[in-house]
Amino acid sequence: MALFGKFFAKESCAVCGAEVGALKKRKLADGVMCKDCVARLSPWFEERREGTVAQIKEQLAMREENRRQLERFDITSELAGTGAVFVDEGHRWLCALPDASTGGLLSSERVHDRAGLIEANADIVTFDQVRSATCDITETKGELRQTVDGEQRSYSPRRWRYGESFYLLVEVDHPYIERMRVPLGSLTIETEGERQRSSSGAKALGWLLDDPDMDVRNRAATYDDNGVLRALTRGDWEMPDYAYGFRCSARNWEAIQGYGRLLAQVEGLCQMIAG
Ligand SMILES: [Zn+2]
Repeated sequence: MALFGKFFAKESCAVCGAEVGALKKRKLADGVMCKDCVARLSPWFEERREGTVAQIKEQLAMREENRRQLERFDITSELAGTGAVFVDEGHRWLCALPDASTGGLLSSERVHDRAGLIEANADIVTFDQVRSATCDITETKGELRQTVDGEQRSYSPRRWRYGESFYLLVEVDHPYIERMRVPLGSLTIETEGERQRSSSGAKALGWLLDDPDMDVRNRAATYDDNGVLRALTRGDWEMPDYAYGFRCSARNWEAIQGYGRLLAQVEGLCQMIAG
């Protein structure tokens, strides 16, 4: 009975002092806080349960200072998907949001200006605090099948649908953020045959196989080893046999170019903030 009583006992939020019931309280290492106060913490802060009341109060104070600092944030470039990244090159600052949508589920509104950053109180990270910035891509793969005589059968050669999700992964030295993994877009690519993975030797020639208009370096590109001679001899107007390891065709060429553009954008951002 004693335990039961304790579970339902009212406690006070260590931050604002409001009384919080069992269902609305959130634990800290040495106290509890209310849901409203938790909502004021950084969306990138992952260690609340290990945080002490003193640390949490310090973070909230820093976030109020952050909100004032955002008044001086000049957006010089941005990249948005589900999340968003905003850069102020003059101050060498960046802000990232894990979810940039505003106004609920069915709204397509996104944070896109300084007022939106202030409203969300997006944490300012300086370029000097960035330890590493990389383009992180997750891939899913499923086979496409056809119905023949009422049966599901593989195509010959087999066809695949790849799902590619792009994230900017930033590791930082910051008082209350360790890393930010920002979802910046996803796309699907359908191919005949599986995506080819290159040997390291083929990587050196990789850029030759790409769209010549794109200036992208350091990519984790993957290519067909047999494509080198072909790449050297094909005309500028021709579609390459493979790009980023995907077998190119008229059907998927647009999606593959979209992959290249997104990769170039995220890698460009990485170079800007970690360079
Ligand atoms: Zn509170």
